[in-house]
Amino acid sequence: MGNMNLQKRRFLSFFPTEVIVDERENGEAEQLYALSDNQGIIFTKDEILPYLEKVMKFYQMSEMDEWIKKENIKQEFYTFISSQTHLSFPEHGEDKYGLPYPQYRQKSFSSERNWSCKCEWCGIRVSSKEKEFYYTLNDSTLNLGIERACSTDCATLIWKEAARNFVYARGWQDFFCID
Ligand SMILES: [Zn+2]
Repeated sequence: MGNMNLQKRRFLSFFPTEVIVDERENGEAEQLYALSDNQGIIFTKDEILPYLEKVMKFYQMSEMDEWIKKENIKQEFYTFISSQTHLSFPEHGEDKYGLPYPQYRQKSFSSERNWSCKCEWCGIRVSSKEKEFYYTLNDSTLNLGIERACSTDCATLIWKEAARNFVYARGWQDFFCID
């Protein structure tokens, strides 16, 4: 985008309205679009053409695809973070966030039978003979199936890795301070 400073501002809603135009010359009907307001009132030519010219100019600018991609990633991030209810993100100032606070559950080994499980992080097998607790993680947003950990440290590391993958997969790394 060079040195141009583009800023988004939304001030009108346009709704495409399908219009079928009979092309009398070759007999084929063509599908066109008129633009209406939110009440269904179609904009007149004088009202709409100045905008359409600017729309065309915008889309023909160089590096536009890259700019749109970045803007949409940003928009998706702010929509996500403002609607989050179950994950909680520490704020780092300057519009930066930390990875969401780890969520795991402490589970007691059942006393009725001997049982063991393998820690998904360090690979150590924890057994009811030696320990009282193990930890589980499960989070659909972070794409974490049910994972087991030997300790709160390992549970935190599993969580952080899933959260980091989640952030990078969406291209949101610029909005996070990731250690
Ligand atoms: Zn472990």
